[in-house]
Amino acid sequence: MDSLTNSQENKCLEAFIPRGLIGSAREVFGASVTAEGLCPVRIGWTGELITSIETIPAESASDLKLLLPRLIEPHAHIDKAFTWGEAPNLKGGYQNALQANLGELKNRTIESVYARAERALKLSLKNGVRAVRSHVDSFGLVADQTWDVLLTLRDEWKSLIELQLVALVPLEYWGTKQGNSLAIRVAKAGGLLGGVLVPPLHRRTSRASLLKMVTMANDLGCGIDLHIDESGIQPAEGLKQLIHVLDQMEIHVPITCSHLSSMGLLSSGKLSRFADCLAHHRVSVIALPLTNFWLLGRQSTRTPVKRPIAPIVQLQQAGVTVAVGGDNVQDPWFPAGNFDPVSLMSMTMPLAQLAPWQRLGLAPFTTAASALMELEWNGIIQVGSPADFVLLDASSWSEALASSPRRRVMAKGDWVDEKLFISQNSKLQFDR
Ligand SMILES: [Zn+2]
Repeated sequence: MDSLTNSQENKCLEAFIPRGLIGSAREVFGASVTAEGLCPVRIGWTGELITSIETIPAESASDLKLLLPRLIEPHAHIDKAFTWGEAPNLKGGYQNALQANLGELKNRTIESVYARAERALKLSLKNGVRAVRSHVDSFGLVADQTWDVLLTLRDEWKSLIELQLVALVPLEYWGTKQGNSLAIRVAKAGGLLGGVLVPPLHRRTSRASLLKMVTMANDLGCGIDLHIDESGIQPAEGLKQLIHVLDQMEIHVPITCSHLSSMGLLSSGKLSRFADCLAHHRVSVIALPLTNFWLLGRQSTRTPVKRPIAPIVQLQQAGVTVAVGGDNVQDPWFPAGNFDPVSLMSMTMPLAQLAPWQRLGLAPFTTAASALMELEWNGIIQVGSPADFVLLDASSWSEALASSPRRRVMAKGDWVDEKLFISQNSKLQFDR
């Protein structure tokens, strides 16, 4: 499927790479570029690192496939993925999803969490993902053990996928004694504090809880990632409370707003002011269009035509880092999804009108997601960066997005499938 040369030390392949993801202009100066912004290049690597990038003439590029840096899932729920079968939400609304989720949580076992999370990581790896940030239901009887299990998996998988974990609890939980112990544990484990801030809300109580949480995160030095304004009512009501709190203090930890859907319903003047506030406080945003379009604004007798979604482009224009995530996979919140970032790009295209052949259309899945998660590698392909790729069986963006393409995944200079199947001792086997 590609022109691949293997030797003991130096390896290379020829492929199309998005021009915007190639680091140095010098290396591709004068290169031909397709209408979709793809450059035909020969990329060489030794061991784990890229050692050369050379352009190749357009006339010898007709057969090439599309090569991307391994991609990122910035917002997932691997502890409850694949629970649709036992906790279906056939009505499809937000409150129904919450009830089904809480019902399933009562019967959740460590074994089931391990199995779901491992399946999620295997699929992510197979689909070309190098880092996953997952929120973790962190209240109730099984919470402590859930963290034990997921931290074990995080260590087992660290050579292939970086797993970041966020403690998801009701916001006011951070003000309790148990919340305090959880925060200390999470911070020690390198995790983040999370929570849900969705209207209708009590302003004073919400502000007090937010203040408590942000102060605690600041003191412990751990990041924050909130589910905020995942709603079609009272636009940006949660965001108003957050900004009120952030205006009062100096923040030393990264803050992410996940969803921020109802912000998109604000008038353009208000929206622009809030976007500037987010940029000022260096708050990043993760848009989650699939769950938003599935859950929010439901009416039994009408197709809703005004849809809550984070205003991705306006935020980018204000200088906010914006990523796009898949969120729920086959659970009460969303019945579809498969930890496939290429499918996510494809499904996001008509919802958010993001085109991957534009720099700011591709960034939410690559460089912006990497920056937001503070990953070591920014996802730019250049000499010295990791030989960490997903090679799609597609010769153009249109072909790649038409249906989820077959692909090969390279992690740190080795093709992942070969490594997994060669290693007899490996616990990792793909679901076929
Ligand atoms: Zn979520």
